[in-house]
Amino acid sequence: MTTLHPDVESVLFSEEDIAQIVKRMGEQISRDYAGKDLVLIAVLRGAVVFMGDLMRAIDVPLSIDFMAVSSYGANAKSSGIVRIVKDLDMDIKGRDVLIVEDILDSGLTLKYLMQNLSNRGPASLEVATFLWKDVEGKQAAIDPKYVGTHCPDAFVVGYGLDYAEHYRNLPYVGILKPEVYS
Ligand code: 5GP
Repeated sequence: MTTLHPDVESVLFSEEDIAQIVKRMGEQISRDYAGKDLVLIAVLRGAVVFMGDLMRAIDVPLSIDFMAVSSYGANAKSSGIVRIVKDLDMDIKGRDVLIVEDILDSGLTLKYLMQNLSNRGPASLEVATFLWKDVEGKQAAIDPKYVGTHCPDAFVVGYGLDYAEHYRNLPYVGILKPEVYS
C-alpha cells in the first residue's frame, strides 16, 4: 500500500481506481477513433501523468503533442484569458484532435484553447478530462466528451496535479490539508 503524504488529508482516488478509470477511457477512445487520425494534445504540466497512462491504454495509432499556456490577470486560473507559451509542433489540420486534461473546473482555459485550435481546421476536436470538479451552481464552459470521474469541490493534488509545483508525483489523487495552503 502507498504511504499517505503527511500534507494529504485523504485519498480520493487510489492507484487502483486510477488504473481502472484510465483503462475504461482508453477502451472507449480506441473504439471511437478506430480508422481515424488521432492526435492527443496535453496541456503542460498537470496533464503529463494522465497523458502517459492514457496513451498506453489506447490501442489505435496516435501521435502526441504538447502545449503550455499561462494565464493573464490576478485571478489567473479562471480568467480564461490565456497566452500560449509553447505551441504545438505539429499541424493539426484535417486531423482528429483530442485534448487531454487533468482536471476541469470552470473550463475557461479549455474553452479558449478549443477556440484557438478549432481555427486550425482539425477534422474533429474533443476533450478527455481525468477529473471533472462538481462546483455547486456552476456549469463548466465546455462539455468534455470523455470524463474519467467526477470529484468534489476541494483542492486536489497528485497524479500530475500540483500545489506550488509540489505533489505532482503522488501516485494517487488526494485532498490537500487546508493548513498547507492557508
Ligand atoms: P479551469 O480553467 O477549468 O477553471 O481550470 C483548470 C485548471 O485549474 C486545471 O488544469 C488545473 O491546472 C487547475 N485546477 C483546478 N482545480 C484544481 C485542483 O483542485 N487542484 C489542482 N492542483 N489544480 C486545479
